[in-house]
Amino acid sequence: MKQQTLLMIKPDAVQRNFIGRIIERLETAGFQIVQMKMVHLTVARAREFYEVHEGKPFLEELVAFMSSSPIVAIALEKENAVADLRELVGATNPAEAACGTIRQCFAIDMGKNSVHASDSPENAAVEIRFHFA
Ligand code: UDP
Ligand code: MG
Repeated sequence: MKQQTLLMIKPDAVQRNFIGRIIERLETAGFQIVQMKMVHLTVARAREFYEVHEGKPFLEELVAFMSSSPIVAIALEKENAVADLRELVGATNPAEAACGTIRQCFAIDMGKNSVHASDSPENAAVEIRFHFA
């Protein structure tokens, strides 16, 4: 069954000119780009996106980072898109990400980990609506 998910290319990857290389990996893996935009999130919008992490110790740093410079938001479609994208992206901490994953190849550390990927079909729907309402 075709499914949609959301990927964001985070500021660290945009700043280091990795947009093209990350998109190439998505397309090579069979993801269809259905919507895409570059956007500079405000602090308030970044906080809204990550409201599920309210109260977590890393939230303030995450919000500051995600609003520090532009990101690229991409809605993707594929069979089993949510789980397959999480696998392509790799573990949150790049030091623990599997070989060949986007985070293992491009990320700097746990905070500057180059990409966001939705973690469930329900959250994917919310996150796609957030960027492409
Ligand atoms: N994060 C962090 N420190 C942590 C956990 C998470 O800086 O201890 C950041 C990291 O950039 C991560 C984001 O917060 O991508 C959201 O965390 P989540 O647990 O949802 O990880 P993800 O779903 O992105 O792998
Ligand atoms: Mg998450």
